[in-house]
Amino acid sequence: MNHEKSIKSESEYITRRALFIDLLSHVILASLFSIFFYVVTHKISWVFLCILGGIFIDIDHFIDYFLYYGRNFRLGHFCYCRYLDSGKCYIFFHSWEFILLLWIGAFFIVWLVPLAAGMSIHLIVDQLSKSGKFYFLLFRWNNQFDLDKLEPSYSEMAKKKKQTRE
Ligand SMILES: [Zn+2]
Repeated sequence: MNHEKSIKSESEYITRRALFIDLLSHVILASLFSIFFYVVTHKISWVFLCILGGIFIDIDHFIDYFLYYGRNFRLGHFCYCRYLDSGKCYIFFHSWEFILLLWIGAFFIVWLVPLAAGMSIHLIVDQLSKSGKFYFLLFRWNNQFDLDKLEPSYSEMAKKKKQTRE
């Protein structure tokens, strides 16, 4: 899931339309690459791994969610990224360093190829909507995962929402 810079609505970080386009683009691209892998390898496991990498990389958003909301899960809060109210953004799998490690691993463990490919495609799409270094784990780490420093437009939204609630 990516978080556009120009997302708007009083209570959400991402519009319904942006969310839909984001999910759809990940599903379509992961499917296309899965088909490619199937044509090349004839292995269903490669199809599965490519889709796993391309779509389920987004499970790391759950970590950010649960760190903020605890076990109180609400789909709406999750989909509209309301856990960004925390002012933090970890999304550990959305990291070029992690992708690089996977590709290095893929030299030795062949089934990591479709997984790394799926995740790479996902992150390339997400990267299109973000400022340069956002998807580098070291960059986020160096900035204490603070949205203030990583993506000021989000933290502005978070502050505004806090003020309206007070
Ligand atoms: Zn994503």
